[in-house]
Amino acid sequence: MRVLVLGAGIIGVASAYYLAKAGYEVTVLEANEGPARECSFANGGQLSFSHIENWSSSLSFFSLIRTLTSTQPHIALHNFGDKKLMFWLASLLSNSFGINAHKNSRNLYRISALSRELFRSIIDEEKIDFDFNDSGILHFYRTKKELNKAINNAKNLDLLEKEAVILDADQCIEKEPSLVKLYQENKLAGGLFYKNDACGNCAKFVQNLAKICQEKYKVKFDYNVKVKNILTNYKKITGVNTTSGVYDADNYVYALGFGGISLLSGIKIDPKIRPLQGYSISSKVLNLAEAPQIGLTDTRNKIVYSRIGNIFRVAGVIEINNSKNKISKNKIEFLQKSLNGNFSNYGDVDNDTSWSGIRPFRPNSLPLIYQVKKYGNLYLNTGHGSLGWTLSLASGQILADLIDNKLPEKFGFLRQEKVG
Ligand SMILES: Cc1cc2nc3c(=O)[nH]c(=O)nc-3n(C[C@H](O)[C@H](O)[C@H](O)COP(=O)(O)OP(=O)(O)OC[C@H]3O[C@@H](n4cnc5c(N)ncnc54)[C@H](O)[C@@H]3O)c2cc1C
Repeated sequence: MRVLVLGAGIIGVASAYYLAKAGYEVTVLEANEGPARECSFANGGQLSFSHIENWSSSLSFFSLIRTLTSTQPHIALHNFGDKKLMFWLASLLSNSFGINAHKNSRNLYRISALSRELFRSIIDEEKIDFDFNDSGILHFYRTKKELNKAINNAKNLDLLEKEAVILDADQCIEKEPSLVKLYQENKLAGGLFYKNDACGNCAKFVQNLAKICQEKYKVKFDYNVKVKNILTNYKKITGVNTTSGVYDADNYVYALGFGGISLLSGIKIDPKIRPLQGYSISSKVLNLAEAPQIGLTDTRNKIVYSRIGNIFRVAGVIEINNSKNKISKNKIEFLQKSLNGNFSNYGDVDNDTSWSGIRPFRPNSLPLIYQVKKYGNLYLNTGHGSLGWTLSLASGQILADLIDNKLPEKFGFLRQEKVG
C-alpha cells in the first residue's frame, strides 16, 4: 500500500520511518532542498519527556491575560482584531486550568513516555548520531514562590521522585556549575531536576533518519517539490497537485507544520493551529568544560538552554499569531541579554547564529494525530507546538498504528478531536 507523506520536518520523517518499517511503500514530498529546514532546524533541542504541563497552565487566569496583553519581551500577541484568534485564545484559556489542563497533561505524558522509549530503541537499533546528551534538564527558579509553585504542579501530576528531584540553590550549582552567576547575584532559589530528560540536535537527527529511511527502508524523498493544493472527489483524497505535477497514493499524511495550513483550509479542514513564532541563538562552545553541560529551563522567561555537542543554544520567545517568520532584532537582543545575564562563559558570542521558526500550536497543547473522517484516506500529524522534537517518534509510531487500524486504547483520546 502506498503512502504519500507531505513534509520532511521531524514529524514527516518520523512518520515515514515507522510507516516504512510497518511495510508501507512511502514517498515524502518536501518544498525545500533537504529535510529539517523549517521549524525542525535550530529549535531548543530539548527532549522534555517529563515536561507535560501545558504552556499556559502554569499561569493563573489573570496572569495569563496580563501576560498576553503586556509588553514583556518574551511574549507578544499580533493582530488583536482577528476574530478567529479571539476564539482560539478563549479555547487556550479554557484548556489552561482545572480538569482540562490536568487531562491534557496526562494525555501528553502518555505520548511523551512512548517517545522516550522509542528514542532509546532507535539509538540502539539504528546507531543514529545526533549529539544526544542524556544528562537531564534542570528547571531553575529565581524566587521561593516560583519554586514552590513548580513543586506543587509537579506533585499534582505525580512527577516528584519518579521524574523530578527538588534541588536547593547549592545543589543546583553542584549539578550545573555555570549557574554560579545567578547564585552570586542572589537570583537562584532552587530548581527541579528532570533526571530522565535529554537534549539533542534535532536537524542532525532528521537528516540522519531521512538517510536511514532512504537507504535501509527504501523510502523515496522528492525534494524541491511544493504542494500547491490537495485534490478530492469529496469522499476521499485523489492526489496532490505540486510544482512537479500530480502525485497520488492510497493514503496521505499531512506533516507540513504551519506551512501548509492554507492547503487544509482549501479542503475545509480546520486543525485549530495558530503560528507561534520563536527564536534561537547558537554559539560554538570555546571552553568545553566551562560552558553549561546539561539542559536548563528558565521558566519565568520561558527560555531553554541546551548543550548540543559543541553548540550552546538558547531558545525562546512566543509571538502569538506571527506567521511572517522574519527575525526581529529586539527578540534576538532579548535572548542575548538573557544569556549575558545568566552566564559568564558559554561560547563564541561574536560569531553566534540567529534563527527563527514557527511552532504549529493548538489550544490544548496536544498534537493532532488524526484520521480525517470526511476523507478517510487523509491523516494529520501536526500541531506539536513547542514539543514537536520531544513527541516526534511517538507521533510517527502512533500515526503508523492509526493507518494500520491498531491504535492502542491508551491513545483513544486522539480520536476525540473535532476537526471540521
Ligand atoms: C524557538 C523554538 C524552540 C523550540 N524548542 C523545542 C524544544 O526544545 N523541544 C521540542 O520538543 N520542540 C521544540 N520546538 C518545537 C519543534 O521545533 C516543532 O514542534 C517541530 O519542529 C515541528 O515539526 P514539523 O515537522 O511539524 O514542522 P516543520 O519542521 O516545519 O516541517 C514541515 C515541513 O513541511 C514543509 N512544507 C511546508 N509547506 C509545504 C508545501 N506546501 N509543500 C511541500 N513542503 C512543505 C516545510 O518545508 C517543512 O520542511 C521549538 C520550536 C521553536 C520555534
